[in-house]
Amino acid sequence: RVTAPAQLTVRDVTVRFAGLTALDGVSFTVEPGSVHAVIGPNGAGKSTTFNVLSGVCRAASGSVRLGGTELTGLAPHRIAALGVARTFQNLALPPYATVADTLMLGRHRLTRAGFLAAGLRLPSAAREARAHRERVREIAEFIGLEGELDRPASALPYGQQKLVELGRALCTEPQVLLLDEPVAGMTADERRRTAAVVAGVRDGLGISIVLVEHDMGVVMRLADAVTVLDFGRGIADGSPAEVQNDPAVVQAYLGA
Ligand code: ADP
Ligand code: MG
Repeated sequence: RVTAPAQLTVRDVTVRFAGLTALDGVSFTVEPGSVHAVIGPNGAGKSTTFNVLSGVCRAASGSVRLGGTELTGLAPHRIAALGVARTFQNLALPPYATVADTLMLGRHRLTRAGFLAAGLRLPSAAREARAHRERVREIAEFIGLEGELDRPASALPYGQQKLVELGRALCTEPQVLLLDEPVAGMTADERRRTAAVVAGVRDGLGISIVLVEHDMGVVMRLADAVTVLDFGRGIADGSPAEVQNDPAVVQAYLGA
């Protein structure tokens, strides 16, 4: 990366589904190179927040900006091209592809030479393909799977498959990475390993991370800032220690 990621600002976002207000004027700011957790009881609006950030879901009002660029209303592929990558709560890996091929999928939006040059075997295309393979290897090392590049991703243990998905998102060279419950369903060992990778994404790659996660241990260890949602509203913002002791937050979790 050459430049630091831009600030991601969510301002007064409201989302309605046929009479139900899923998000009601939600605002928060993700500082460049930080882990910003979005937490809250079931149905609070966490996934809807991600869907707005990634363009899957349209806000009735409010805005999402990355630096000076308005993301509100853009299609998902445009938002991805501007540097916002996401992983999904449930695995979405192609069934037979190797780890290397799966990671390479993340490189496609960065390919300049295009299929014609590649088909004609032009030197520029060969150079570019080499650079992509090199980067795929680096990312595989980063997620600790450099020894598994030629194995089918779907043959790996669940925790490693989740890391492949994270790696594929990293291969798009994002400014902001949206992680929806990255450690859900993992063993204690896989959780530790994934948390270390996420910390490395922030500290080593300088990427901003928006983290939706139920595992409070992981949130408290990783997050620089936390936004708490309840019934579609932001009820608290602050450091992990601040929100943990906030009476409104305790009430929201006990009342759920
Ligand atoms: P969380 O991820 O925090 O559990 P969600 O963002 O998934 O919460 O959901 C917030 C609210 O919006 C819930 O009441 C949920 O039932 C509702 N909701 C989410 N997606 C849809 C949809 N596509 N259509 C109708 N209601 C939805
Ligand atoms: Mg959810």
